[in-house]
Amino acid sequence: MIKIQVDMEKCQHYGQCVYEAPNIFQLNSEDKLEYIATADDAELNNVKEAADVCPMQAITIVQ
Ligand code: SF4
Repeated sequence: MIKIQVDMEKCQHYGQCVYEAPNIFQLNSEDKLEYIATADDAELNNVKEAADVCPMQAITIVQ
């Protein structure tokens, strides 16, 4: 399992992470980021990609 943290002080809700890991990150009806904090290892690469593309470097992965 991996744990995912998003620093909501940094996050600007741009949504790039949503394209990379749609099972984990979503924009809600108010265009605010929502995410799942615990995910299966199978999502690791997607979440890494999301962390890489996040313009605010707001995503942290704990393995
Ligand atoms: S890519 Fe980064 S700044 Fe954009 S919504 Fe995701 S966590 Fe927030």
